[in-house]
Amino acid sequence: MNEKKVLLAVLAHPDDETFGTGGSLAYYAGIGVDVHLVCATRGEVGEVDPELLGEFSSVGELREHELRCAAGYLGLAGVHFLNYRDSGMAGSPENHHPQALAAADQQKVIGEIVQYIRLLKPQVVITFDPIGGYMHPDHIAIHKAADKAFYAATDPAQYPSDLPAWKAQKLYYHTFPRGFLRTTVWLMKLTGKDPSKFGKNKDIDLTKISEVKFPIHAVVDYRNVLEKKKQAVACHASQGGMRITSGFLDKLRKVFGISDQYMRAYPPPLGVREHDLFEDVS
Ligand SMILES: [Zn+2]
Repeated sequence: MNEKKVLLAVLAHPDDETFGTGGSLAYYAGIGVDVHLVCATRGEVGEVDPELLGEFSSVGELREHELRCAAGYLGLAGVHFLNYRDSGMAGSPENHHPQALAAADQQKVIGEIVQYIRLLKPQVVITFDPIGGYMHPDHIAIHKAADKAFYAATDPAQYPSDLPAWKAQKLYYHTFPRGFLRTTVWLMKLTGKDPSKFGKNKDIDLTKISEVKFPIHAVVDYRNVLEKKKQAVACHASQGGMRITSGFLDKLRKVFGISDQYMRAYPPPLGVREHDLFEDVS
């Protein structure tokens, strides 16, 4: 048993916690839940304006600093790095860097997440959906590893350590509704733009993403902590306005209101829409 309510988010890069799930993390931290983040990389491959690098010796160092700033506003109880390297988008040479998350031994990544689950004892775990939101190789890698770790943590025979096995009660995948995305794809085609080459680096395929649909089982309203999320977004200055996460998802938010959407992976959904990830948690 864990007396305290604990939420663990298992994500890939500094900024995923804010642009993706920031509203929910701030909401739960605000009502007294211990919210922890396992972040697999330091976002080393993210594009950064050289002026922003300032006193930092590397992009990874700057982005860790931005993440810690955001974690302060979101009210996170802990930030835990797995120390892999950002893999960049699919097809980029960064995918093959020896420390790249996308190239890492999956068993090792699972084992590390298992230890954090046993150490932090969350009742609820959240991670990316099976296509990693927008098909980033690191998001997909961490989704697969977190998914396997969620179940493996319950079995003392798997990834044995000094820590006792821990059974988290619920697993959710963060996702977003596709209706608006489909309209965007349609409008882009209509105006002669190619939705399969979206984003600053033209490496985001909106057409493909819009064709994969995930059911939404839980919606977390975070309007009461919107200011905290905005402050956390501002911390990620090096990634501001340049990416799908800040520009495109911001538009999504305007259309769908101030909430985060989740698909429930465990236990199997019951056909009712939840409004609290801790519903039925004992
Ligand atoms: Zn990311």
